[in-house]
Amino acid sequence: MSGRPWSGTPSDSWCAASDVSDFIPLSVPNISGNEWEYVKECLDGGWVSSVGEYVTRFEEMSASATGSRHAVATTSGTAALHLALRLAGVGVDEEVILPSLTFIASANAVRYQGAWPTFVDSDEHFQIDPEAVRRFLVEDCHSGAVNRHTGRSVTAIMPVHVLGHPCDIDEIRDIGREFGLRVIEDAAEALGCRYKDRPVGSGGLACLSFNGNKILTTGGGGMLLTDDEETAVRGRYLSTQAKDDAVQYVHGEVGFNYRLSNVQAAIGCAQLERLAGFVERKRSIASLYAEELGRLPGVTTMGEAEWATSTFWLYTVLIDPSTGHTPNSLIDALARERIQARPVWQPMHLSPAHRQSHSAPCERTEEVHARAVSLPCSTSLTHAEQTRVVDVVSRLLRHG
Ligand SMILES: *Cc1c(COP(=O)(O)O)cnc(C)c1O
Repeated sequence: MSGRPWSGTPSDSWCAASDVSDFIPLSVPNISGNEWEYVKECLDGGWVSSVGEYVTRFEEMSASATGSRHAVATTSGTAALHLALRLAGVGVDEEVILPSLTFIASANAVRYQGAWPTFVDSDEHFQIDPEAVRRFLVEDCHSGAVNRHTGRSVTAIMPVHVLGHPCDIDEIRDIGREFGLRVIEDAAEALGCRYKDRPVGSGGLACLSFNGNKILTTGGGGMLLTDDEETAVRGRYLSTQAKDDAVQYVHGEVGFNYRLSNVQAAIGCAQLERLAGFVERKRSIASLYAEELGRLPGVTTMGEAEWATSTFWLYTVLIDPSTGHTPNSLIDALARERIQARPVWQPMHLSPAHRQSHSAPCERTEEVHARAVSLPCSTSLTHAEQTRVVDVVSRLLRHG
């Protein structure tokens, strides 16, 4: 085996560069702990499916890492979000407030429930802006939180902690209480973050992802986090086809096949053992970027809100047009130097997939999209590699 493992799909153009030994990828998994040993144990014992002790162990470890009482392992973060929306009782033709600046899975999960995302703008830390949520509810809704543009009831908020930085979740929960809205947290990118010294994912209904590009990976997987035992029990039930009697094939309602396999959970256990080290590594990569790139004119480095301890999961800078670069021109120039960088997601309110959804004005999101570039930040990134990234970015931004 040569080169590095890849977190993208085969259609991602940069995969072709994987043979080039000095290629620096954006963010790749770090599989160098007990993964082989635990997976071998599963395979040797024949416990490969979703019944097995690693699933339970991975749930217990995830609950403890996030300060939650219960955790339910799922096949993906998207599945966990869908399940959470179902458990929260979000129904057909209701609306869920979502930041426009997120990965599409957040919005898709809302549509799977037959509900509609309604998009709002983000704050200066890339996170859902509580002020924008409040403004939407006060100015764009009738009393009882009915969206006056669509006539639909707004029943939930799905804050997303993006890029490894927590959103202002206390403010969002306060708004939820004030307007009678449920809160379902998309913490897919935020495992290991802290909000006012509490782990992100605690104290509510939250979802994690263990996709290949996240801080930890199981190849694919997710986790639902809750303090409520009934929610956890029901989550497990719904994720295993709502099985009442396994022998007689009796099912109480329409469930899902959303349960994580034991093999994947085994990988997850080995990965989770290393979370603290991964966070430390991400934070030290971030501080070197902040120091070196912060000196360049026209670059805004990634900071932390006063409530936040970020993992800097995906290190993202804003490039001012005065540098002579757009995100795409910088990304192309970096690619020629065998360094992989990426823009942020197309904002959801501009996504063809969600063109039928309502959106509040999202100017800051559009500005972020027009300026943001994510830089290499794998936990395995060496100091020499990061120095090369810094040197190349500095040269490109100084000389256009
Ligand atoms: C990765 C991600 C998801 C989806 O997780 P999968 O495990 O890929 O299904 C959801 N929301 C956000 C913000 C993500 O980054």
